[in-house]
Amino acid sequence: MWDTLPDAARSIVKELIIHGPQSRTALAKTLHLSTGSLTRLTKPLVDAGLLVEREVVHDPVNGRPTRPLDVAAAEHRFLGLKLTADRVHAVVTDLRAEVLAARDEPIADHDPDAVCRQARRLLDELSGGAGALVGAGVTLGGNARAATHVGGEQLVDAPFLGWRQVELRPLMERALGVPCVVTNDVAALAHQHHWFGPGRGLRDFALVTIGAGIGYALITHDHLMPAAEADLGMFGHLVLDPGGPPCPEGHRGCAAAYLSSRSIEMAAALALRREAGYDEVMRLAAEGDRACRVLVRESGRALGRLIGIVATISLVKTVILAGEGVELARVAKDDLDAALTEHRRGLPGSVEVVIESDDFREWARGGAVVAIQSFITGSD
Ligand SMILES: [Zn+2]
Repeated sequence: MWDTLPDAARSIVKELIIHGPQSRTALAKTLHLSTGSLTRLTKPLVDAGLLVEREVVHDPVNGRPTRPLDVAAAEHRFLGLKLTADRVHAVVTDLRAEVLAARDEPIADHDPDAVCRQARRLLDELSGGAGALVGAGVTLGGNARAATHVGGEQLVDAPFLGWRQVELRPLMERALGVPCVVTNDVAALAHQHHWFGPGRGLRDFALVTIGAGIGYALITHDHLMPAAEADLGMFGHLVLDPGGPPCPEGHRGCAAAYLSSRSIEMAAALALRREAGYDEVMRLAAEGDRACRVLVRESGRALGRLIGIVATISLVKTVILAGEGVELARVAKDDLDAALTEHRRGLPGSVEVVIESDDFREWARGGAVVAIQSFITGSD
């Protein structure tokens, strides 16, 4: 049934997933459909159990009692996975990407088949047999590349896992028994923020992630700007100050030199004359440790300049900051804002900066979101 669904029906489901339960008259108005068409389109979806009718309320449009339509969110489960060089992060979510269960553990064996078997075991442990699994999404970061084969199959290169031209999707689909999507982790996070986060309802915004690497994604006219992994990789090495410190790849004053966790840890080790992890550096800076404070403020200013460049070139008014290193934006918020305002030629507030969660599970949740989107829109 789902494969042959008209686009209008898919739009109804998407609207209900993103914006919550609504009366038929409100839905018809939003989607420019007649109430007759809406009833005809939604009936098979209600019969199939994807849509449900909620308790009677008074319709906000015409005041009549009505039973709002909603998606049967809890009855549809999705698996999201994020693979790093040494760990697999897994979440099971409902149809609105609410995390129902989560776990992360070391990757026991880097062989693609073994990783798929591990995914299957994680799924069994996390779902506990409840709810039907509908789809899965796997996200990869770093310099993973997905190319399309002549035969149409996507081939994944993930040097950090030792993978070259791996047909991950069919392997994962065999292991899990449901359709699977494989995608870039920052792109998946952008989709997540667009449907379920602060980007909900926005047609245009940019996402910048900071952590082990520096990531970037752009949503424009409601769609993710497609980009090659190699081009995305350039973003983290955008030069912010040609006289700045070098990054591990040797560029002077690039974004990674100021913002990557490793760069900040290395600079802190020099200043403190001992090793210190990223979280500790942020905590020390927040508590007023002078050396860490100087370092973190400089990185905060660099982040403000980077956001300014992003907003000015892509013409967005909202920049969402995420990733496991996002605490920097909180600790050095004043410096970030000052540098951004300076870059925007003294127009404070001309760009809204939204600081998101640094929970690493968000990356796996992004995987679940691309699976949900694939299920709803019928594409991959
Ligand atoms: Zn660099």
